[in-house]
Amino acid sequence: MKDCNCIFCKIANGEIPSTTLYEDEDFRVILDLGPATRGHALLLPKEHYKNLFELDDETASKVLGIAKKVGAKMVKALHADGFNLVQNNGEPAGQTVFHFHMHLIPRYKDDHAGI
Ligand code: 5GP
Ligand code: ZN
Repeated sequence: MKDCNCIFCKIANGEIPSTTLYEDEDFRVILDLGPATRGHALLLPKEHYKNLFELDDETASKVLGIAKKVGAKMVKALHADGFNLVQNNGEPAGQTVFHFHMHLIPRYKDDHAGI
């Protein structure tokens, strides 16, 4: 853990308990504390990367593979009608937690989530 004051480092590494949908050696998928829709989740690497541009290529490609695999299971389990992958980099882009994360957002007909 490079940045031990980072909340997502602590969650990803299990130091702070979370509702975990998926975990492997390098990543954890948790439920978002302030969900935009039912089942809104966050994919977190266990290593600290501030944003997308700090990821090495191998980690970046694993992110999409996990998002696809976990996202498909979420859509099926939740009977969602669609799915958004969202990833914010920098404050003007809407990033509020500066540990790279991908939003996995199930969408439902007429959910009016405004994403
Ligand atoms: P960002 O705006 O950086 O793209 O997304 C940060 C997300 O993290 C927000 O959707 C927010 O609700 C979520 N979040 C912030 N703090 C916590 C936390 O302590 N636990 C969980 N599970 N989600 C959090
Ligand atoms: Zn971190």
